[in-house]
Amino acid sequence: MHETSIVNSIMKTLEMEFEEEKLNKMSAIYLKVGKLSNIEPRLLHNAFTAKHYCGTRFHKVKLHIESTEIKIKCEKCHHITQIENYRFLCEKCQQPSKNLIQGEEMLIHKVEFDD
Ligand SMILES: [Zn+2]
Repeated sequence: MHETSIVNSIMKTLEMEFEEEKLNKMSAIYLKVGKLSNIEPRLLHNAFTAKHYCGTRFHKVKLHIESTEIKIKCEKCHHITQIENYRFLCEKCQQPSKNLIQGEEMLIHKVEFDD
């Protein structure tokens, strides 16, 4: 249950980040999950739902997950390419590159609170 432990660590991070008063008003969490992060957004969603925050202060919280594309920056011409089908090539000069600038991350992008 890889995704369950991710959900747990997200909630732990938020509990450390925000004060009690804010946490009680939390209404939405926005995540960005890179396509190379080995995290399946659908499974993460399921894990979050399965946690049954019902009756807890998180029961109103909606989880939004945005899947982010894989991008590389060419070492040769500095062009940024969005990778399709795991072809790690600069679209401008065809230089192979593994210089990832996006796609491996899992980050909490935004948190919303009720007023
Ligand atoms: Zn290039």
